[in-house]
Amino acid sequence: MQKVTIEDVDSRMSAADVRRGLSDGLGSTDLAINYYELAPGDSFAFGYHAHVRQEEVFYIQSGSVTFETETGDVAVEDGEIVRFAPGEFQCGVNEGDERVVALALGAPQDSELDEMRRDCKECGEQTPNTLEMADRGEELVTYCLDCGAETGRFD
Ligand SMILES: [Zn+2]
Repeated sequence: MQKVTIEDVDSRMSAADVRRGLSDGLGSTDLAINYYELAPGDSFAFGYHAHVRQEEVFYIQSGSVTFETETGDVAVEDGEIVRFAPGEFQCGVNEGDERVVALALGAPQDSELDEMRRDCKECGEQTPNTLEMADRGEELVTYCLDCGAETGRFD
């Protein structure tokens, strides 16, 4: 058995205010476990995406998350839990005024992306994007794969 105090785990660079990876501390071998806190406007992900092999579950402990899904926007409130199949596109955003606390579970741990899409102002539509390290590893930047424009910056 392994036990982890969530607030003792360092937060990593992400599209969320706080993202603490719990898999290593718990020694989980098949399950990816991440604790999130989303400030208003934050997201779980860098864009609208699908994983090749990984299914994902999000438990919303407090606040409300709006998931962009293949069938439209879906609000997931505190006390609710949602699951996305491998290959299913989604992106959860905190569009409310309240801070979100949530737990994300993914299996298997291999989170290889099928594709990640973001709104590109240059192209005027949602386009495939890539994510790259910038500023000596201090920031993550997303670029439109169609025109090369920068579409987002995260630290
Ligand atoms: Zn573009």
